[in-house]
Amino acid sequence: MLPTPDLSHLKRQDYQFIYEPAEDTFLFLDAFEDEVSYLKELNPAISLEVGSGSGCVTAFVGKILGESNCLKLCTDINPKAARATQGTAKQNQLSVDIIETHLTNGILPRLGGKIDLMYFNPPYVLTPSEEVGSHSVEAAWAGGIDGREVIDEFMPYIKQLLSPKGVFYMVVVNENKPDDIREIMKRDGFESSIVRTRLAGREKLFILKFVRT
Ligand code: SAM
Repeated sequence: MLPTPDLSHLKRQDYQFIYEPAEDTFLFLDAFEDEVSYLKELNPAISLEVGSGSGCVTAFVGKILGESNCLKLCTDINPKAARATQGTAKQNQLSVDIIETHLTNGILPRLGGKIDLMYFNPPYVLTPSEEVGSHSVEAAWAGGIDGREVIDEFMPYIKQLLSPKGVFYMVVVNENKPDDIREIMKRDGFESSIVRTRLAGREKLFILKFVRT
């Protein structure tokens, strides 16, 4: 079992401003642990986490990729999350470049078609639309109608960003209508599978995996 990344540099008060790793984060780690052989075989040249928050998932995936020459990129809309991710990378002896931006703005078109590994634990909670688009901690969960507003905005970019061998992983909950997401991605040329699922309180979480057909 791979150890959870060291987050001891982040204090209780930091989590007033950034997303504290929770069940969804840990299910994502478990899914990546299931995927270790696949990821090593994939040997990504460039990886990208969208919405890295504390940096916990990126640090975990970074450890899986080990000494490979993978360029590890992250984005987050919340400047405090960007700083936290940088701190987590340092704390875990990893080199990560973090861009404070909306979704993947500033990455396309330069890195279009070049990302081998991409992953996103998006804001998926059902909220009023007006709550979507914050640059602070609310951005971690506010997903708008069906918890899908940020997910739906991001989906069209996946086919533009991923390399031919690229893979994309995403956390969703039942209310986000995972089958509908899989259908939209199918129309974009991706086959999908469920890597992990877990009941966490009232939430049914899924880790979806997409590769080109
Ligand atoms: N990856 C971390 C984890 O798994 O613990 C954080 C996940 S949290 C559910 C979602 C993250 O996405 C937050 O850090 C939030 O600031 C970020 N986020 C939300 N909307 C975003 C957007 N439009 N562009 C970039 N990041 C965004």
